[in-house]
Amino acid sequence: MDGHDTCGHHGHGPAAHGPARTAELVARAERLAQDLGLQFTALRRRTLEVVAEEGRPLGAYDIAERLSAPGKRVAAVSVYRALDFLTEHGLVHRIASRNAFVPCEHGHGAGESAVFLICRSCGSVDETISAEIERSLDRTLAQAGFKPASRIVEIEGECGTCQGRQEAG
Ligand SMILES: [Zn+2]
Ligand SMILES: [Zn+2]
Repeated sequence: MDGHDTCGHHGHGPAAHGPARTAELVARAERLAQDLGLQFTALRRRTLEVVAEEGRPLGAYDIAERLSAPGKRVAAVSVYRALDFLTEHGLVHRIASRNAFVPCEHGHGAGESAVFLICRSCGSVDETISAEIERSLDRTLAQAGFKPASRIVEIEGECGTCQGRQEAG
């Protein structure tokens, strides 16, 4: 049993950010930690909140800086540990090409893939799920006899908004 009943496959529109999105992610994390009998520590929660509120990829050092208060520094290594927990449970994703973290835009099941569209101009990241990519990735992995640790596809380029901006300017 690996909790497949918990994956919400809602359709997704444009990436939503902000307080509602953050509250939803935190609630998801709380449920998940409870189900697994794990601790959703204050640092894990704060890290998730910072990533969710940012709306663009954030590195661990930036997160640590935001969590630090005068006289109370949070070490990047602690943030990395919190991020390990959050990525492991699909609450945030690591964008390898940026070494940065984004909140998960959907609830996916374990082993599901995500496709990230990363804009070089404005730095926005759009997460999407494709059943077609999922299927062909399954086939490719099976043919190669390869066991994936993560299934994340990153595509760099220019988002629709930035393309429009260039034409207008
Ligand atoms: Zn995701
Ligand atoms: Zn852009």
